[in-house]
Amino acid sequence: MTATRVLVLNSGSSSLKYQLLDMRDASRLAVGLVERIGEQTSRLKHTCVSTGETREQNGPIADHDAALKAVAVELARDGVGLDSPDLLAIGHRVVHGGMFFTEPTVVDDGVITEIERLIPVAPLHNPANLTGIRTARALRPDLPQVAVFDTAFHTTMPESTARYAIDPRLADRYRVRRYGFHGTSHAYVSRRTARLLGKEPSEVNVIVLHLGNGASASAVEKGRCVDTSMGLTPLEGLVMGTRSGDLDPAVIFHLARVGGMSMDEIDTLLNKRSGLFGLCGDNDMREIRRRIDEGDREAALAFDIYIHRLKKYIGAYYAVLGKVDAIAFTAGVGENAAAVRQAAIAGLEGLGALVDPELNGARGDEARLISPPSARVAVAVVPTDEELEIATQTYALVGKSN
Ligand code: ADP
Repeated sequence: MTATRVLVLNSGSSSLKYQLLDMRDASRLAVGLVERIGEQTSRLKHTCVSTGETREQNGPIADHDAALKAVAVELARDGVGLDSPDLLAIGHRVVHGGMFFTEPTVVDDGVITEIERLIPVAPLHNPANLTGIRTARALRPDLPQVAVFDTAFHTTMPESTARYAIDPRLADRYRVRRYGFHGTSHAYVSRRTARLLGKEPSEVNVIVLHLGNGASASAVEKGRCVDTSMGLTPLEGLVMGTRSGDLDPAVIFHLARVGGMSMDEIDTLLNKRSGLFGLCGDNDMREIRRRIDEGDREAALAFDIYIHRLKKYIGAYYAVLGKVDAIAFTAGVGENAAAVRQAAIAGLEGLGALVDPELNGARGDEARLISPPSARVAVAVVPTDEELEIATQTYALVGKSN
């Protein structure tokens, strides 16, 4: 029998998210999450999709190794254990693949060394992703482990987009360039948008707006990314939940010299205490909309700044692409906040993009158009599915040789 199941692991510093998929029909068999790993109050939440049964386990889980073993026990209880011959491979989300990893890659010792070498440019994410890989390898050393990189989709960006205007020798020495993130989501959503239009990805140009707590925009030309808003790190670009996005780099010198702040303090300020949260004290768009409805001016200004930046990127990517077939909204805010979609597209009639208020207001879990049929540029809501994309890429790589 051919193995067709792929386990997808997304390891954070204190969490482990997982999904088990059967790639014959891309169906989910199990989904779950281990939170607060290393604390006394760890929690495992596991759902068996076929029965709909959800089980929870509370109590200390010491490390990622213990977490994955606990997950293995849950999967075995559902009859889909990690020792099953149906399990083909494990696909891992890895945030930073630098310029080296342009495609999903089967993990070996050399790949691990290279992911380690990228830790200085992804100090928060790559170590956690590596922990997941090492743990899974120890548990099933015979199974292919595939690393799927958040940066890979953006490696098609031309040098004119990827380089900052600084001395290239200095930039190369310290690997300073624009890498972009959320690539797995941008890849999935741009392809899904093409299908929504009844076209191949190679036939359309799409602007993807991934608006979650982190947020990024990308310009996708005929299936290839040509620009994206995040850069060396996820700090560049759009206004986000807690990140400032673009600002004059001299703000940093100013805060250090005049404000007396340390580098670490500024890092924390811009990554964790800025964006919507820094502007109004809330980073959840639902709460911000509720406050605006009550007449809160601080929340209204935060919303306006968020929308203004979004519009600037939409306009920029029109110019980068020359011709746009669709604008796709995705992730927590993009999929759910009709007010954000409406405000971001308002005023773009001259550029061919319109939103139908009724379609925009209707809720749904499926990819859908929210523009009237007459619009020259389609506007779509396309729920992202990074786990499915990781499983698809893993299966495409390993399934062939199976
Ligand atoms: P992450 O970047 O953590 O993966 P998500 O894509 O899950 O984020 O998005 C989380 C954000 O989505 C929340 O912070 C909130 O602002 C927003 N969000 C979620 N549901 C809604 C909703 N119904 N209406 C408006 N915003 C929402």
